[in-house]
Amino acid sequence: MATANLDTRFFGHPRGLATLFFTEMWERFSYYGMRALLLLYMISPTGLQFDKGKGAAVYGMVVSLVYLMSIPGGWLADRFLGQRKAVLYGGAGIAIGNFCLAAPSVEMFYLGLTLVSLGTGLLKPNVSTLVGSLYEPGDNRRDAGFSIYYMGINIGAFFAPLVCGYVGQMIEWRLAFLVVGAGMTLGLIQFLLGSKHLGQAGLHAAPFSSPAEAATQKRYLWVGLAVLLGVPLLIGSGVIAATVTQLADALGVLLMAVIGVVFAGVYFGPWTPAERRRILVIFVLFLVAAIFWSSFEQAGSTLNLFADEKTDNQLLGLPFPSTWFQALNSIFLIALAPLFGWLWIKLGPKEPSVPAKFVLGLVFGGAGFVALMPAAALAASGAKVSPLWLTGTYLLHTIGELCLSPVGLSAMTKLAPAKVVGVIMGVWFLATSVGNYIGGRLAGFYESMPLDTLFGYVGAFAIAAGLLLALFIKPLRTMMGGIK
Ligand code: GLN
Repeated sequence: MATANLDTRFFGHPRGLATLFFTEMWERFSYYGMRALLLLYMISPTGLQFDKGKGAAVYGMVVSLVYLMSIPGGWLADRFLGQRKAVLYGGAGIAIGNFCLAAPSVEMFYLGLTLVSLGTGLLKPNVSTLVGSLYEPGDNRRDAGFSIYYMGINIGAFFAPLVCGYVGQMIEWRLAFLVVGAGMTLGLIQFLLGSKHLGQAGLHAAPFSSPAEAATQKRYLWVGLAVLLGVPLLIGSGVIAATVTQLADALGVLLMAVIGVVFAGVYFGPWTPAERRRILVIFVLFLVAAIFWSSFEQAGSTLNLFADEKTDNQLLGLPFPSTWFQALNSIFLIALAPLFGWLWIKLGPKEPSVPAKFVLGLVFGGAGFVALMPAAALAASGAKVSPLWLTGTYLLHTIGELCLSPVGLSAMTKLAPAKVVGVIMGVWFLATSVGNYIGGRLAGFYESMPLDTLFGYVGAFAIAAGLLLALFIKPLRTMMGGIK
């Protein structure tokens, strides 16, 4: 059998990349399919009939937890399961979770959301780690491998709203969750059949260096499992009697605590002054990314509601479901990613630095909302606006994403001291988690505030943060100590 490093069977890349590409494609199909429908299903008169505040609170919790769980998910794979089992169990959790969402009961709905969150936390970070382990250190195909993999993400994300959105909105909400679960099941079958191509990657967890370390890690495991399984059980059984909004508020506090603990833990490590300066840069990039994602990730919340209620959803005279707008980001991304790759190379020494690209990310993210203000004002009079408005917003958001997301991912690996790269990847997902939380909860203001004002605030905040960051580009570049 060809060893992974000599293997060029998938577009010049190891055959195992195809297995991981399709696993993540199906996982994203299921995630974005579920996400496209989640809020609309909760508030629909033919769905769960939640009010918008409650729906936004549940939605914000789910999309935030999904990413937050990648911190314990990554750790569990590193220390106990190995990435492969983590992917398998995670995928099973997601599939079963979606089948629970399809059941006609609110209890099963909440159980399903819990399983999807835990499952995604187990699967998502660990497929990415597996991609990295297909390449020997120094194999220069690695970055290109990740770009191919990012395409897999977006192919899944593109078809998800088209298929699941159509089934959910045009046929039956709960049938769509069955489709979502079936997609993940196909991904899992494909993963099982294809995992022979992964060689030794992710078969085992890293061995413990001493019995004392093993004992400590096992203690963490039991405490972690007790919390992760116990809290949903206590809430589900009514022992913790809290409203959904109170729980969402508690999650906000938890997120802040996690940020504090993770950052303090990383900052006070045994670093040289140069390493510590880079860690400070990571913190700044984290904050910026969290602000960017809190506008961008409104795709499933306020922008989804705007598409559903205020937009004239017709293409060449034919009506289409409002969730279809969520496919635009992926299709723009697939089209523009090669252009941006080319542009950065073409600019050569004039290529913007990482902080400068983050400024662009924020400005484009904010501009997407500012550009939607006139449409929101028009819609306030009861008119339905042209779908071109949201199309423009998603185009601007995708440009912002291309300036920030792949750049940030690679900057994290370069700026982090080698010993804590894994934790720093967790920090990157934490920014997405925070962004999703804020972006989700903002939908709670959808009715209590004029929409053009809400969009104006979101856009102005992102642009102002971008301009503030622009003032610090130079010192940040100095603090990066020669890393580009
Ligand atoms: N669209 C990418 C994905 O689904 C990135 C999402 C994010 O980090 N907010 O993986």
